[in-house]
Amino acid sequence: MKIEFRKVPFTPKEFQSGFNSVKIEGTFCKISSSLVKIDGMLSGKTPVTCSRCGEDDTITINEKINFLLSDGIYKPKSSDSDDLVIEIEDNMIDFDEIIQSELSSICSDYHICANCADSEFIEQEY
Ligand SMILES: [Zn+2]
Repeated sequence: MKIEFRKVPFTPKEFQSGFNSVKIEGTFCKISSSLVKIDGMLSGKTPVTCSRCGEDDTITINEKINFLLSDGIYKPKSSDSDDLVIEIEDNMIDFDEIIQSELSSICSDYHICANCADSEFIEQEY
């Protein structure tokens, strides 16, 4: 789903998007002429790779996401909060792209599969 930045309303509007088996649901609205606030929830399952043995694993995601989208280069003002800000380049907000980048950052996090977590636990006992 895509929406033009200038068409985003100031009253919260619901959106829904998905990528593979992960979906994102939430609301978005403009908070200033060049900032859009996104409040959402990522949920679903996504494949990840175990950082220890390299086996494929699946994790369940249930994560709140809150961030701001800036129309072009973001120039922080002292009054702005330190929310995560994503800069939009072509005046189009692409929810699919947002969910994909959120997901890839979740997947690139350090992850240990259940097998490795078990053996780690046993090692610690000795
Ligand atoms: Zn593993």
